[in-house]
Amino acid sequence: MKLYEDFMNEYFSLAPLSATYIGINDYNDKLINYYEDNEIIKYKKFLKKYISLVNQKLKLSNTEKNKHYLNVLKYRLKMDLEGYQYNFHYLPIDSLHNTILNWVEHCSGKSYIPLKTIKDFKNFLSRMRVYLESIDSIINRMKDGIKNKITQPKKVMKKVLVDLENVLKNKDYLLQDNLLNEYNSVNVNDLKNDYNLVIKKLFPLQIKKLSNFIKNTYLKNCHDGFGLLAFKNGKEMYNYLVRYHTTLKNPNIPEIHNLGITEVKRIEENINQLFIKYKKIYPNLINPKNMKNDMKDIKDIKVREKLFYKDENDVLKSFRKLQTQIDKTVLPKYFNINDKINTKYKIKRIPKFKEKNKGGAYYQRSSYDIKRLGTFYINMGKIDQIYKCNSYSLSIHEGNPGHHFQTSYSNDMKNPLFISFYEDETAYVEGWGLYAEYLGRQYLLSEEKEKGLLKEEQVYDLFGSYNMEMLRALRLVIDTGIHYYGWDFKKSFDYMKKYSELGEKEMENEIYRYSLNPGQALAYKIGELKFKKMKEEAIKKNQNIKNFHHNILKYGSRPLWML
Ligand SMILES: [Zn+2]
Repeated sequence: MKLYEDFMNEYFSLAPLSATYIGINDYNDKLINYYEDNEIIKYKKFLKKYISLVNQKLKLSNTEKNKHYLNVLKYRLKMDLEGYQYNFHYLPIDSLHNTILNWVEHCSGKSYIPLKTIKDFKNFLSRMRVYLESIDSIINRMKDGIKNKITQPKKVMKKVLVDLENVLKNKDYLLQDNLLNEYNSVNVNDLKNDYNLVIKKLFPLQIKKLSNFIKNTYLKNCHDGFGLLAFKNGKEMYNYLVRYHTTLKNPNIPEIHNLGITEVKRIEENINQLFIKYKKIYPNLINPKNMKNDMKDIKDIKVREKLFYKDENDVLKSFRKLQTQIDKTVLPKYFNINDKINTKYKIKRIPKFKEKNKGGAYYQRSSYDIKRLGTFYINMGKIDQIYKCNSYSLSIHEGNPGHHFQTSYSNDMKNPLFISFYEDETAYVEGWGLYAEYLGRQYLLSEEKEKGLLKEEQVYDLFGSYNMEMLRALRLVIDTGIHYYGWDFKKSFDYMKKYSELGEKEMENEIYRYSLNPGQALAYKIGELKFKKMKEEAIKKNQNIKNFHHNILKYGSRPLWML
């Protein structure tokens, strides 16, 4: 439909970085300063225009498929537009959303922005000039925040300061491969001078300016709270974000909190039963929950080898092995696999300067033409805290049949571009990721049924899977705890510590994440429970499981109420 194309083209001109991200290179010299009022007004106009165009189209006769697409688009546009009421742009930077670090990554030549040819460099420098201006706008929005009493917690901004100071100290923004030296054309000297001015001189100066503003002005105006309740309309803000991330129309937050508590108890019981059963068969089985130690504290080498990786190489090798193994077992059991679906993805480490505040792993989707493959990034910051037993489920979640498989499926089914590349629904996407983990568990349980017994390493995989599920159940309790019941860091940490095997640093990262991305952490369990319920109904009706999954995946992401 022409409307979809017009929409995406207009969207790209307002969000040119997104175009580059998905592999469309026509906008590579453009950047919008998203922090300026006139740009916000423009964007809101764009949203309103397309809401009205979609409404007009919906009144005409449509195929079922088009009606579906139009309704998804309308929903996304409306949710986006509503978000502007809450002035989230007064909070332009925190330890989880620090655009400086993204641009440092772009400068290093290791991000999705191409830095290979002279033209790439020229484009990049023109973008960089806009970005340098937008750092001033970030400071101005923080000043607005101070005036309107919408500021960050002190603890969070202290973390941001440390990150900015580290970037300045380590000069992470310098290009990693000295590509510029490879060009010998006449014009390259000008380019080099430009590069030196913008990246080597002005960028660190702007970072310094931001860091000084935070240190000397902003911190004094930050609050000592931890969640949205620090703001006057915090409850409404949270309600919006819960709706945004869970796609529930009318969420009952205390109910979500209690659902979390019930799930925590159920999963804990599963873990206990697993160990009671298999401790008799494998007497040396270790329950990592009882360890609570980092690798350095574990003296027994055999125990260490069972639970942890040796080094970075060991991590990458093991995950690549798991990838092959899962692709041969779990995938064909539950899905119709054919050549049309691109199941290939890469596994890499998270850039070093991003390790500190990031979680254990994340997935970056492929470009729309698959020239850049989807990538599963692993945080190697604390190799002594990556439990081997979680790897099976982690691999399933980020790779196949989790995020990589779901986004590839949607792409390969030739859905309109906006389905995958203009927003998506966290509850569908993360719910699917967690549901994929559940399938991995079902696979192990079916093996147990067939062979009567799991192998020792499979017991660890199953334990790891419960473990990861536990984390998502804990999120229901703690996210609502922080933003609805006013839990502070300590209360959240103590609750998590009771049920989680995560290292202390990982738990801290998790809890800060809930604090800075309210409602997002709810999407996993809410989405998974919906998919599980649908699966049970389909099985009752004797539907083929592979076809059932095809039906969920074929149209890509959508709000849960449309399933
Ligand atoms: Zn995920």
